[in-house]
Amino acid sequence: MKIVEISVKKDMLKIDKDGTSSWYKINASNTPAQEVVKTLVVGDEVDVKSTVINGVSVVSRIDKSDSPATPVAEEETMEEPKVEAEKVDVIGAVNNFEKVAEETAKYKCTKCGKVMKDDKYENCYTCNQAEWKSKQGATGSDRNNSIERQAIGKMTARTVSALIGTWGSPPDTAEVEVLIDFIYNKYKQKVTE
Ligand SMILES: [Zn+2]
Repeated sequence: MKIVEISVKKDMLKIDKDGTSSWYKINASNTPAQEVVKTLVVGDEVDVKSTVINGVSVVSRIDKSDSPATPVAEEETMEEPKVEAEKVDVIGAVNNFEKVAEETAKYKCTKCGKVMKDDKYENCYTCNQAEWKSKQGATGSDRNNSIERQAIGKMTARTVSALIGTWGSPPDTAEVEVLIDFIYNKYKQKVTE
């Protein structure tokens, strides 16, 4: 890498690298680099290690180079492990998927055997929904039956007492029971028709 141009403030260096020249910034905080730059003249060979910050190559280290044959740019050496790291991530991701697939196969719906995500529920969503619906249905109809029975009971009682009131003599128990059964069943038939 060869110095092509040095800015007046000596905080920027235009450096040629493999036939392409570009500007490198030397931060005021980088005192060692500034000290080196003070000694540089256009045409000097240098080794520069830099980091690209907001699109600007910022010098992290600069050395006057005696052998121009092996210039090392930090940018290049930085990029390679980055690519490798990405590859490792991808491999890791694939492994994770396999692991997840393996784990999910462990959890199966106890009703239909469908593979589930985790062991949070015994049954899959579909089976749970079906079960919930049938439970709702059962409670619903139970409740309706109860309401129905109460209503029929009330109607029966009213009818029976009205009928008995028309009788001249007090009825015996058997008669009342028969009457109640008869009227109850009649009402029930009507209600469930
Ligand atoms: Zn299921």
